Amino acid sequence: MANKTVKKIEATKPTLSAQYSTFTRKRKVAAYARVSTAKEEQENSFDAQVSYTVDFLEKKIKPNEGEVPQYYIEHSHEAIIPPEDWQLVQLEMARRKSLKRKYSGNSVFGARLICEDCGGFFGAKVWNSTNKYKRTIWQCNDKFKGESICTTPHLVEDDIKARFLTAYNSLLPSRDGILSDCRMMYDTLTDTTAIDAEMEELLQEAEVITELTRKCIEENASAAQNQEEFTAKYNSYERRYEAVRKKVEKLQAQKEERQVQADSISAFMFELHETDEPVMVFDEKLWLSVIDIVTVRHDGTLVFRFRNGMEAEA
Ligand SMILES: [Zn+2]
Repeated sequence: MANKTVKKIEATKPTLSAQYSTFTRKRKVAAYARVSTAKEEQENSFDAQVSYTVDFLEKKIKPNEGEVPQYYIEHSHEAIIPPEDWQLVQLEMARRKSLKRKYSGNSVFGARLICEDCGGFFGAKVWNSTNKYKRTIWQCNDKFKGESICTTPHLVEDDIKARFLTAYNSLLPSRDGILSDCRMMYDTLTDTTAIDAEMEELLQEAEVITELTRKCIEENASAAQNQEEFTAKYNSYERRYEAVRKKVEKLQAQKEERQVQADSISAFMFELHETDEPVMVFDEKLWLSVIDIVTVRHDGTLVFRFRNGMEAEA
């Protein structure tokens, strides 16, 4: 921690629309600073910081776009993870978070091999753990639990690795075409012009409602008024505001979801672009970057689904 320097990015207050258009860029700076490990608390603290309350109704609606100062930490402790690996960690966290199924362990094969019979994940099991024949095999976690026993075979790690390389290398002949398709998908996903415009409108509407409510309260404080009427008016503003807030949240979630997909495709593109010749040695980083899910069939074949949606059997 000795060499740590903290650079403060001063709070700024541009116009609403300018704030919004710079949202993505600023957030990336902040994300890099805060999420230096894959620890969940850090991720949560980041989530907590991207939104902050500006309205007097005490409900968050605006993303943090520079009103709160953000800190970019250089030479910080475990932030030794280079950006590339850090991005991979983020991708994996997003991927695992989106999984509806249970998985165990931290192996690169965990949460990736799916049983064709039951749709559950394969888990690791150590055979001959006490002697020199010790080895790790992968089998359906629910193999002997359900009413019908899954018929998918168990797999040894070396076999998974070899077949992954076969599947991955089979993409190489059509590499250029795949990359240009990926580029198109990436561009479509990251073009959020329509969402941004809708959000901008909603944020303006929220400002108007906030202003109306503020006036309504001021009037009530300065002159005698029918309290029933006041309360009814206040409540109607609050309801309108709440409706707007929900719409904004939904759009934000859509935007984030698209970014996650775009990052995922981008990781795949990067690796494929770097692969000039067939890969002969298994590489964990390559596996994590390009593989979405692998389905294990009864007959023992593996269907590798890559992050761009393509599938290859091996
Ligand atoms: Zn199964």
